[in-house]
Amino acid sequence: MSRIAYVNGQYLPHRDASVHIEDRGYQFADGVYEVVTIVGRKMIDEEGHLDRLWRSLSELRMAPPMKRQPLKMVMREVIRQNGINNGIIYLQVTRGVAPRDHPFPKGVPSSLVMTAKRLSMEKLAAKAEAGVSVVTVPDIRWARRDIKSVSLLPNILAKQEAKDKGAYEAFQVDEDGMVTEGSSTNAWIVNTEGKIITRDISHSILAGITRASLLREMKAAGIEMEIRSFSVEELRNAREVFLTSSTSYVLPVTKVDDKVIGNGRPGSISLKLRKLYQDFMIAK
Ligand code: PMP
Repeated sequence: MSRIAYVNGQYLPHRDASVHIEDRGYQFADGVYEVVTIVGRKMIDEEGHLDRLWRSLSELRMAPPMKRQPLKMVMREVIRQNGINNGIIYLQVTRGVAPRDHPFPKGVPSSLVMTAKRLSMEKLAAKAEAGVSVVTVPDIRWARRDIKSVSLLPNILAKQEAKDKGAYEAFQVDEDGMVTEGSSTNAWIVNTEGKIITRDISHSILAGITRASLLREMKAAGIEMEIRSFSVEELRNAREVFLTSSTSYVLPVTKVDDKVIGNGRPGSISLKLRKLYQDFMIAK
């Protein structure tokens, strides 16, 4: 089945899909995005992702490209036309096409692009069984990391540093030595006392949808957690480390920089939480 992209009202062959050179997403990174996981043909946390998209748009005073209900219909059509069973759908909204000038253009409709792709559940399961490694890097991003902006240069540099060092992810660290989040994931630890800890929501991190769903499922299962910042020191000495995101679900981390976590195998709590999250996805 050939890939289809949605671009401003049209369903086009993926390889021919393009936007104008004066799209503000292209010239200024003046846009926002979402990535929604599809499992068994169903979107996971569709409403949460759309809530966050609407929030990002409103924080940037950008007009939604269409009402929520028609947008959901386009998402379903993109998934259907691409025949996705397991994978992701990517949505991007920008402040439209206008002659290059910093202030917002007047009367210009937002641009909307969607793509979809398959993901291998087997590859992800293999990663989870083995555990992944992370490196720590300074967080050099702006002060509104809660907005899911397409302006991802610091995240790209962080991820590349991880890749160059043979790691899966980079955890970013603020000026006070506290872990903010991964370049495209949220960070969690199980500390030396067995407490499950993840950072609180603020302008310092993206409010991960996977993070929120896992917290909700944990609460329902009576699993205790602490919502607070943790330091690199706590991270390195943690009993267990794991990360969450729409494309990684709950993924155990077995090495931080040169420090092996626990016995170098995925921790039992991380695996239990991975299972809890997967059960939630399957039950949806
Ligand atoms: N933090 C950042 C910086 C991200 O890019 C992502 C992925 N969108 C996440 C956290 C995890 O968010 P989610 O669980 O919604 O995928």
